[in-house]
Amino acid sequence: MKVPFRLALLAALASSPALALDPPLPLAPLKEVAGLVKSDQLKADIEKLVSFGTRHTLSTPADAKRGIGAARAWAKSEFEAIGAACGGCLTLMTPTDTVSGNRIPQPVEIVNVLAVQKGATDPNRVVIISGHIDSRVSDVMDAEHDAPGANDDGSGTAAVIEAARALSHRKFAATIVYAVLTGEEQGLYGGKLLAKTAKQQGWQVEAQLNNDIIGNVEGLNGKIDRDHFRLFSEGIKASETEAEAKRRRLVGGEIDSPSRNLARLVAELTDAVLPGMHPKMIYRADRFGRGGDQAPLQEAGYPAIRLTEAAENYHRQHQDIRTENGIAYGDVASGVDIAYLTLMTKVNVVALADMAWAPAPPPEVRIDGALSDDTALSWDASPGASGYWVRWRETDEAAWQRQKFTAEPQIVMKDWVVDDWAFGVASVSAQGFVSPTVFAAAPPAK
Ligand SMILES: [Zn+2]
Repeated sequence: MKVPFRLALLAALASSPALALDPPLPLAPLKEVAGLVKSDQLKADIEKLVSFGTRHTLSTPADAKRGIGAARAWAKSEFEAIGAACGGCLTLMTPTDTVSGNRIPQPVEIVNVLAVQKGATDPNRVVIISGHIDSRVSDVMDAEHDAPGANDDGSGTAAVIEAARALSHRKFAATIVYAVLTGEEQGLYGGKLLAKTAKQQGWQVEAQLNNDIIGNVEGLNGKIDRDHFRLFSEGIKASETEAEAKRRRLVGGEIDSPSRNLARLVAELTDAVLPGMHPKMIYRADRFGRGGDQAPLQEAGYPAIRLTEAAENYHRQHQDIRTENGIAYGDVASGVDIAYLTLMTKVNVVALADMAWAPAPPPEVRIDGALSDDTALSWDASPGASGYWVRWRETDEAAWQRQKFTAEPQIVMKDWVVDDWAFGVASVSAQGFVSPTVFAAAPPAK
């Protein structure tokens, strides 16, 4: 029988102390930060974003009230206010690039608005939350008509800014970057610029949580779903090298990219901290044939996932505002369910807080055990880790099933045959905050 990780944990806690979570996941501080997310603020932010008329990438950058320039300036001023309220805990960055392409006939300036909350002990390690502030109507080149983009992606943008409001009340080991991106609808330009900024800054990006379309609960068929969301992650990393591909064909790992294991962590944290909100792991890089701002980060070699609502409504995405045959079209504010958006923001806040409080995941987990009844795992110690969870599952199982704590950066798993199990290792802080799991695929050190 296949036992999901969380059920296996309960069973383990009841029967076998060797498999218990030790140290346990610290629920209280994670619930506390989730509790700092405010619905009324999210509602006000959605209404404010809609008030700019259009936030199309090719709309005016110069008007004080309408267009992409006014919207970006507002996001910047919100971050400035949040930074002032936390005694200067946020540093603002506005990386800029001039781009052109088939959806950008004249070169245009792309500006991302980033707020950086510097980590206290591990500032170069970075976790990112992102959403895109640009919007569109039916014609992707139409920069004039109202494109409220309340859900796509006002919802993600509001979540990014509200995450900054919530998490700026706490101090973290690692750096958190709150990223309001632009140019998504014209070709993922903001995501590309974010990947470029990360490289230029030398950030060790541990995670990008890309939030795009996270506030609607009513599907096209009228079905309401307010307690699920989808986590999209690539199975094999986009940046895989020839040597890594060769290794994977020998030892497996097709569903164990760093992005996939990041998604698993977000799912586990949601299950543990936010009962009532249910993650759906989707084993795809994005929705069928579509894309998002996580893709450029994945291509640059960073773990990145997309969070999206469970039930999409295509009458409310990329549509001119109109009524046709009794159907209301348009991405208007009434299509965003604020209670659901609040929960989605909490999912992000919990995951960011856990990872920013946790130590870095082991950079690489080495594994050996061929021609033996035992499996030997080793990895380089992670600074600040008080120990590690060794995790394993059957090779055809989707979620980690078992785990064992070790204080040392190696372990011999007695009587667990390497052929039959997939292994990974996560770092744990003294308080029990846990990093994403790193799939064990590397050969033993010579
Ligand atoms: Zn979008």
